[in-house]
Amino acid sequence: MGAAGLALSVGFFLSASALAGAAEWSVVVTPAGVSQGGVVGIQVAGEEIQTMKARLGHREIPFFAGQGVFSGLIGVDLEERPGAAGLVLQGWNRSGERKERKVTLHVRKKKFPQEKLSVPASFDRIDEATKKRIDREQEQLNGLWTASSLERWWEGAFLAPVSGGVTSPFGLRRIVNGLPRSPHGGVDLKASMGTEVLAANHGRVALREDFFFSGKSIVLDHGGGLYTMYFHLDEFHADKGAQVRKGDLIGRAGMTGRVTGPHLHWGARLNGARVDPLELIAAVK
Ligand SMILES: [Zn+2]
Repeated sequence: MGAAGLALSVGFFLSASALAGAAEWSVVVTPAGVSQGGVVGIQVAGEEIQTMKARLGHREIPFFAGQGVFSGLIGVDLEERPGAAGLVLQGWNRSGERKERKVTLHVRKKKFPQEKLSVPASFDRIDEATKKRIDREQEQLNGLWTASSLERWWEGAFLAPVSGGVTSPFGLRRIVNGLPRSPHGGVDLKASMGTEVLAANHGRVALREDFFFSGKSIVLDHGGGLYTMYFHLDEFHADKGAQVRKGDLIGRAGMTGRVTGPHLHWGARLNGARVDPLELIAAVK
């Protein structure tokens, strides 16, 4: 592509402005528009680039080289502020000189479904010891998102861990007894007791614990800041630290944790952002 100018896949969703020393790169963003909780793939081509990464706010996004093109996956958190978000692409040439280009991502507001319910106050009461346990487990989970390998293990398309359809959508906002709860950070997929749960892509078992809310939980680190989560399992079939291949059996679906029936909660984190795992399937071919 050489000295070709900036190739805009769909111009009106994407605008790029020159910074000092801005490079003539071809930048393609797919899909062109992104909503809260969405995933965007970015491909950058330029003969002179040797290494590349990007910054979105305080988040650093690794880019990977392949066939003359650098590609990165960007997650937009489900509570990201709608509007323009500045992404700074940084590339280094052979002599270590850095060039930058700013790309503006336009984040669309997504109307997530809402559900209002009333439960007896006693159903919802959590004692002090349990509250402490919940906080500890939350911390353990949140500690993962910053520890991902910069190396990328995932490869090609992602697969759904079970074949069942969505029973509770990503981002669902529950209002319990008039108080909004944190939005649903994953999708619930239909899965009967004992259904095989498969690894969505290659990775490493970063967490294997029995948690209060999520029950028997597995988190896979796919490298490059991408994680997928599998909650409420009945059985584990992968050890902590084990390397798994796409499609490997990692557990069996169940109803452990705070749930009312068997299903698989499937979640994803991409560079710290809570994204819809079904978007991963859609965005990565
Ligand atoms: Zn869920």
